[in-house]
Formats: sequence, C-alpha cells, structure tokens
Amino acid sequence: MDNSIYMHIAEKIDENPIMAPKSEDRTAFHPSFIKYLKLVYSPQEAELLQHFPRPNKFISIQEVSDIAGKDIRSVERILSGLHQRNGIIGMGNSYSLPGLQLLLNIHQFYSDVKSEDIEAAQLYREFFINGGFYKNYESSFKGTPLMRVIPVDKAISADQQKLTAEEAHDFIINHAPDEMALVPCPCRTRTEKIGSRECKSRFPIGTCIMMGPLALHFEMLKLGKRVTRQQAVSYFDEMQTLGLVGMTDNSIKDGTVICLCCECCCSQIRGRTRWDNPDSVLESNFVPLANDDCVGCGTCVERCFFGALSLDEETNQAVVESEKCIGCGICALACPQEALKLQRYERTTPFGTTRELVKAVAMENREGSG
Ligand code: SF4
Ligand code: SF4
Ligand code: SF4
Repeated sequence: MDNSIYMHIAEKIDENPIMAPKSEDRTAFHPSFIKYLKLVYSPQEAELLQHFPRPNKFISIQEVSDIAGKDIRSVERILSGLHQRNGIIGMGNSYSLPGLQLLLNIHQFYSDVKSEDIEAAQLYREFFINGGFYKNYESSFKGTPLMRVIPVDKAISADQQKLTAEEAHDFIINHAPDEMALVPCPCRTRTEKIGSRECKSRFPIGTCIMMGPLALHFEMLKLGKRVTRQQAVSYFDEMQTLGLVGMTDNSIKDGTVICLCCECCCSQIRGRTRWDNPDSVLESNFVPLANDDCVGCGTCVERCFFGALSLDEETNQAVVESEKCIGCGICALACPQEALKLQRYERTTPFGTTRELVKAVAMENREGSG
C-alpha cells in the first residue's frame, strides 16, 4: 500500500491542538512519523481511519461503514480490535482517533517487550528527539507549556499562602476529575524496553495518574487501576518522597493526567534537563529557602534535577538559583534537618481549565506554524 492513506491520517492528526511531527523546514510530515503510523495501523485499519475526523471527535461505526462503503460487521470487527489494542478511543458505538499524547505512547503501556515496541521507540527517537518534535509536544509555538509543576503541601513553608489548586493535595482532592486510574508510565517503560533507563536504580517505572475519560479508557483495557482521590494522594506522596517531580495539565481545574517524572526518561521534563526547551514545563509560584538549621550536607543539591541548588562558599548553606528552579519541592522533602521549605515566588499563572489551555495552544500553534 502506498503512503497516501497514512498521509491522510497524518493530516487528521495535524488538526490536533499539538500538530503532527514535521520535517525540519515544516513543508512535509516527518518521514519517521509516517513510518510510525504504518507500524501502529495495518493497511486494513488505515483504510477505515482515513475517514475519521480529527482526534477526540467521535464517529459512529455506521457512519464509517457508509463513508467507506464497507459491510458494517467487518467495520465493527476491525475497529473493536483496534480499540482493544489501544489504537483508538471508544464511546458506545463510536470511536475517535487518539490525541498525540496517546498515539505516540501506544506500545509503551505494556510491560512485555515485542519487536514492534523497539521499532516504535526507534522511530520516536528519530522524529521526537533528533527531529526536535519535543518542543512542539512540550509547549506551543509561542512558548506556552502544556504541563505545570505541582509541589506537595509538605514541602511548602507553613507560613506561606497557597492559592487554589497550587499544591498537589488540593488539586487532587478538590479540582481534578472524579475518575482516576494508575496507568504504567510510558516514558520510563520505553527506556526500560530499549535498555537506556538511567534512573533504574533510583525509581520504579511506576505510573501516571490518568483522569476523566482517559482513566476510563485505560480501565477498560485493563491497563489502569481505578483509585479514589485519597489513594491518588497517597501514591503521589510516596513517589514524590522518592524524588519524582509532580506535574499536571497547565490548568487549575479538570486535567487529563498527573505525571510523576524523572529527568532522564520524561518526554516533558527532558526539554529542560537534556534538550533546549526552557518552556517545557510551567514553574510553580514557589522556590526553596534554607533556614539556619541547614548543616550543608548537600542532600538537597544532589536531589535537584535542574542544578538549581548549591552550597554557599562562605556560609556552607544551601542557596537556590531561582531561574533554574521549577518549584517542585523534592529537595525540601529530602532535607534531613527539615531546614529547607518552599517560599512564595510569584512568576506564573496557569489557565483556568484544561479546555482553555487546549484552545490557547491550538490557536498559538495555528498562528505560529506559518
Ligand atoms: S510525563 Fe512523566 S510520568 Fe508522564 S509518562 Fe512521562 S515520565 Fe511518565
Ligand atoms: S539537605 Fe537540608 S541540611 Fe542538607 S544542605 Fe540541603 S538544606 Fe542544608
Ligand atoms: S531547587 Fe530543584 S528540587 Fe528544589 S524546588 Fe527547585 S527545581 Fe525542585
């Protein structure tokens, strides 16, 4: 089969707020992305998917059958098989193409290692890392980050004001969607499968906390374990204590995912730690400050992924470079003296809702894509 059907699917994906990966001069889709679509979707599946609307917009089995001129039972069989393989999203008798965040990770929610998972990881490397797509994935063309940092309450100094949903507990308990599921972290699963996971001895692969319709999708696939808000809080605290950075959508309300990220595998944070995207994540409105109980042990300095802490040469106490600090608080959680706490440092404003974030990112990307 030639590429035209897959090009058609790429055009639909390109209507996503985060647009599809392109070549360096942006005149064509990245060839490795087209190869990736071929790896994910068989010719028989692609033939049907080319008639789908943009990602996350649903189309019924009957409509696909009418447009494609195919027998409804065979359409139903093909689409339901694809749904079971995590290739599309389902709702009743309708399906939709997945958004890019799901599409690019399809193979990496499963722990068994298949040859196509390795091929998928290689293609991801070609268009996502080498082709520079990470920039468009992490932030808009104008520099709006898709994710924001959420520190846990315990890291924040008791005398500091906390605004709505600014710390993880308040966000999870009062502002996140009702449905939550623990789903294997695809970033660390990918590096684990190809043998390049640098954080192997420090962190488990662990899970993200998917929310809303995504939680239901992964629960249906038996890849997600439904949890209560309180269980999500406990899991979040446990992972942050290990040293993983907490992030969610760059909005105060709703949200699709809470991530617990390392600096070496994460598709979001690596923009800052390994690549050249200072806008890869929105900083919280806090930075750490050490008090006189600091004994200069250096534990916090070692903990920080971002090289934002050092020991002052004269006082031998921890000092922060606020421009490098994202305000995650994992340094404060590690201090054996409890001498380090987050203090307010106003610098960022998340969107009100995820819908507003997505709308702004879509507009900025259309304007910026030329
Ligand atoms: S963004 Fe973070 S938690 Fe989410 S999948 Fe990537 S590393 Fe895992
Ligand atoms: S971990 Fe605590 S005591 Fe050690 S250097 Fe950092 S602030 Fe000071
Ligand atoms: S100094 Fe580092 S670990 Fe501490 S809050 Fe800032 S970015 Fe996070």
